Amino acid sequence: MKLRALGVASIAALTLFTIALPAQQSALPYTVVTRAGRQPLAARAMNGQDMFALDDLARIFNLTTKEDTLAGGLTVTVGTQTIVLSPQQPLASVAGRMISLPAAPVREGRMWFVPVDFVSRALAPISPIKIDLRKPSRLVIVGDVRMPRIAARAEALGTTTRVTLDVAPPTPHTVAQEGSKILVRFDADALDAADLKTNLTSDTLQAIHVGDTPQTVTIDLGPRFGTSRSSDQPAPAGASRIVIDLVSQEAPQPNQPPQTPQGQPAQPGTPEPPLLDLPPAGGLRTIVIDAGHGGDDAGARGAQGTLEKNVTLSVARRLKGSIEARLGVRVLLTRDGDQNVGPDQRAALANNNKADLFISLHANASVRPTVAGAQVFYLTLAGFGTDANAAARGNPEALPVVGGGSREIEIIPWEMAQGRYLPQSAAFAGAIEGALREHVPMSARALQQAPLRVLVGVNMPAVLVELGFLTNAEQERLLAGDTLQSTLVQALTEGIVRYRAAAPTAGTTK
Ligand SMILES: [Zn+2]
Repeated sequence: MKLRALGVASIAALTLFTIALPAQQSALPYTVVTRAGRQPLAARAMNGQDMFALDDLARIFNLTTKEDTLAGGLTVTVGTQTIVLSPQQPLASVAGRMISLPAAPVREGRMWFVPVDFVSRALAPISPIKIDLRKPSRLVIVGDVRMPRIAARAEALGTTTRVTLDVAPPTPHTVAQEGSKILVRFDADALDAADLKTNLTSDTLQAIHVGDTPQTVTIDLGPRFGTSRSSDQPAPAGASRIVIDLVSQEAPQPNQPPQTPQGQPAQPGTPEPPLLDLPPAGGLRTIVIDAGHGGDDAGARGAQGTLEKNVTLSVARRLKGSIEARLGVRVLLTRDGDQNVGPDQRAALANNNKADLFISLHANASVRPTVAGAQVFYLTLAGFGTDANAAARGNPEALPVVGGGSREIEIIPWEMAQGRYLPQSAAFAGAIEGALREHVPMSARALQQAPLRVLVGVNMPAVLVELGFLTNAEQERLLAGDTLQSTLVQALTEGIVRYRAAAPTAGTTK
């Protein structure tokens, strides 16, 4: 697939650990939340759509329904307003205005079923009380209920584990440690915590969950927890962000009593523990291989039907075997199946595992079928604004200082992580390009810089390799076959060996 350039503004809205529910689970009930309490609302999967029984909605929202047997339609009355449904049409007339539905209503015997979106598109606009349908959380919030969405992510920063809570809308809160827990209490009626789970645990972090009260996010601390610092940080519009650093006991605390956050944000200027445990010189310990695309994102497609997502996964799996055998390092894949993985999830996997190198694999497409050959890319900061470029130059005064820490990694926003690795990434890209050139056809522009979405958040030297062009008939045939895939794997492995040899301190600068 053609490389996707990115807009810096788009980076802010991240949902790293959202997992799409498989279709067979999609009939899980919804929960209706009112100030008075909660009740389940059954959902049924019909033709790939979640549907509610109209009778259930009538009970909850005080609707009256009347079937027009002549016209074959159904009239739903909400107060003084009406909605007209027809069983053949994915449409509804709402107070005289047509709206679309993702599917037509279904009639089974005397029962009518409507798509879940009926609630937000038909009912909510004319309801006298506020109705908020939150599909990802399977919630229907009725009336004036303060129920902020809380999304959590955790990342390992050496001896510190950083927990970030994004809260929308911004909601007053306190942060306090109680025993082996940190409690974040929100001034709300309840929490929408569908995105609360994090897939990272560490020696200072065991779990993040709603607990203590329904308005409290509880962080279960790990056995090596020493101290914590918390602060409120800038966040995308309509949200606020709470950052809580969990510092391991192993970190020295020079002349500094342990800080116990009792509902107070941490003070800036606190002496910082050393950030990272350094790997042995010359050591590559972890390499992340990113198989481009996946799931319903097939990437580029050749004329014979070869899909980029399949080529990248096949080469990624082979490359993992080759690197493990030849270099004896840990290799992680951003996906080992045919699933969707977001660009930020790919970067987070590498960052959370403290990888030393990141290689993203793709196959290209062109409108001209004659275009062929492999290409190697690393990131350019062109278009990323002055902050990112300052970050790359290491000019601390120009950096947005968040959290008041003195460590470079603390004051460089996440989305600019790659900026500091551009020299290493350039060297890595050069080594890979040199090795590929000896074995496979190369593009006329074999080594390039580009603003690549998947690389920007990667906190280590990183490259993206376009293995060839699927729009070239010869290359499509070869890319789908064993011989070229094996040759590519050999060359990529060789490139990594050369980079390691030329950069004996690779990985120690994090
Ligand atoms: Zn691609």
